Amino acid sequence: MPSTIVILGTGGTIAGTASSAQDNVGYTAAQRTVADLLAAVPAWVGGVVEAEQVAQLDSKDMGAAAWQRLVQRVAHHQARPEVTGVVITHGTDTLEETAWLLQRLLAPAKPVVLVAAMRPATALAADGPQNLLDALAVARTAGARGVLAVLAGQVHLASEVRKVHPYRPDAFDSGDGGPLGVVEEGVLRRFRNWPDPADGAGAGDAPALAAAVLTTAAESWPWVEIITSHAAARGDGVQALVAAGVQGLVVAATGNGTVHQALKPALEAAVAAGVPVWRCSRCAQGVLVGPDAGPAAAMSPWQARLELQLRLLAPARSATAADAG
Ligand code: ASP
Repeated sequence: MPSTIVILGTGGTIAGTASSAQDNVGYTAAQRTVADLLAAVPAWVGGVVEAEQVAQLDSKDMGAAAWQRLVQRVAHHQARPEVTGVVITHGTDTLEETAWLLQRLLAPAKPVVLVAAMRPATALAADGPQNLLDALAVARTAGARGVLAVLAGQVHLASEVRKVHPYRPDAFDSGDGGPLGVVEEGVLRRFRNWPDPADGAGAGDAPALAAAVLTTAAESWPWVEIITSHAAARGDGVQALVAAGVQGLVVAATGNGTVHQALKPALEAAVAAGVPVWRCSRCAQGVLVGPDAGPAAAMSPWQARLELQLRLLAPARSATAADAG
């Protein structure tokens, strides 16, 4: 059976169209099919690429139902012996959340490569076709594994990738460690080791998390919100969320995890009411340092929000690490 790569389409700007080739911002995302995107890049000599449309959305609107379908299809294709890797076309806005979800649930031994674009398919200098070609090259690289993101010639790990710019084509960054590698003329030049299949928090619980995600109706996923500690912060927002039934809170805290004094009593009351509160930094890079750093020390606020939601879904792992800072 020939080596096969499966490319799953979910929408995004990479599949977006505008009425003018000069327009890089006034476009509609998720218009072209993944088969169309694939037709725009040279064929893989020596293997087969299968295309499948899993969703067609602007990733700003990503949610539990589309995630469930995606997890299901990735797991299905990963289990096929002839499939060497899976590529997923995605929007840039929530790419890092989907990357984290797939890494945590599947901890894949074969590569799962997310690819996106900052410019629509109709743009004068569209970045999508080159990014897709690079993603396919990474997916067929011997030894590749884990969930990766490929954009602007760089390869990022799911645990580290962050969108750091709203406009430029090289909008993604890996923080302190730098990218895993770069793709040059279809060849990956790797600077660091492939991710451990267990990359990220709590690896051993992946099967339990996947089972919980796939069997819990999308509308029943626990409600977890992010709040930010900032100058002139007030506790009223936290109180309102708790009164409305929020099930978990992530505080995007200042600096090394500090929280405004006006927010603290409301957070402590939330913990006392049984709502887990996690802290991470609102800084763009780095991790919380020190003995009280807590479970979300190395996570971005949106990664922490998803992680807390997963742990509440599969409570075998404790989600009660209350940490009101
Ligand atoms: N709003 C778009 C999306 O995330 C942005 C992009 O893909 O660049 O789907």
